Amino acid sequence: MTTLAPEATDASEYLIRHRPDAPVMFFRPDLLAATAAAFRAGFPGRVTYAVKANPAVEVLGTLAAAGIDAFDVASPEEMTRVREAAPGAALHYNNPVRSADEIAAGKRMGVDSWSVDRMSEFDKLGALPEGSEVSVRLALPVPGAAYDFGSKFGAGPDLAVEILAAVAARGFVPALTFHPGTQCPDGAAWARYIHACADIARRADVQLARLNVGGGFPAHRGGAAPDLAAIFAAIRTATAEAFEAPPALICEPGRAMVAEAVTLALRVKAVESGALTLNDGVYGALGEWRDLPAPSRIDVISPDGHLRRAAGVPRIVFGPTCDSLDRLPRPLDLPGDIAEGDYLLIPGMGAYGAALVTAFNGYGARDVVTMRAG
Ligand SMILES: *Cc1c(COP(=O)(O)O)cnc(C)c1O
Repeated sequence: MTTLAPEATDASEYLIRHRPDAPVMFFRPDLLAATAAAFRAGFPGRVTYAVKANPAVEVLGTLAAAGIDAFDVASPEEMTRVREAAPGAALHYNNPVRSADEIAAGKRMGVDSWSVDRMSEFDKLGALPEGSEVSVRLALPVPGAAYDFGSKFGAGPDLAVEILAAVAARGFVPALTFHPGTQCPDGAAWARYIHACADIARRADVQLARLNVGGGFPAHRGGAAPDLAAIFAAIRTATAEAFEAPPALICEPGRAMVAEAVTLALRVKAVESGALTLNDGVYGALGEWRDLPAPSRIDVISPDGHLRRAAGVPRIVFGPTCDSLDRLPRPLDLPGDIAEGDYLLIPGMGAYGAALVTAFNGYGARDVVTMRAG
């Protein structure tokens, strides 16, 4: 269900009026457009969006209207969604392992750039239209990210040199790409990768047309808001230092682009001492909380809108399904006076929330309320 709530500018106002029993995702297109504008103003290159973070058509349409004209896609289904929301946008197919049928779908849909991390998958691409970019994905072990993206995809430096030389020799537009790891806290990881990429291009004797610095930009999950400007500055400095003739830069944020645009409201179904049950959990919009610590930005309000202010008490949190695995891996600190029927308001839930919701046991956050600017 997608509802427009032009009367409400504020999630708690909506909750007090409607008392929803199912989870609600409050979507603020104005905040998404503002984040896109901030990336475009601050990042020293082209800004694209990684569709997997939140593939909702409203999200893709808002980004297209905000000037995002290229999208990182991983599957034909994601390509179809982009074509619906932004028909003229460029498609960057950055899932480096593809079936023959998926490659054919990508060619039909007019993919502009393909990432590869092994020779066999590069060979499998076959002939591509004139001007197609092939971007070699590099992986270095990176400390600091919330979890390591290099453990699945990416060639080590020696293999990257070999593939990059082959890309240039076959007449494709040569590029390099990497992903420093999601929710990466500072610019050092990007700087290290950028220097490694310059080294690989030199060893391959290839002038890079483009360097794709991936996603990984952090969202605000608690404490101080992340400093994206400092990360952009680190990327700019490292590129200028590492390359004699710097390639064009491109980034593909998912999380940091879309997280802040959605506030998730969950309801407390039952409270016992030391534990409580919510109306959504790890099979729903909290799926990522199995692997990332829960954010600390959570407000609890009573059904008549009073903020619960008692000191935090750690509680085991269960989701609504009948599966005993449906619980958060670590206790969550929630106000001691939390009660049945209360709402948890969790900002910053636009990335990897809705995208991971299953329908298991008939639950899962599906209701979206689109809000006007507050
Ligand atoms: C998931 C992904 C992204 C986005 O990552 P975030 O950490 O959400 O910014 C970007 N590029 C590729 C290739 C990805 O797989």
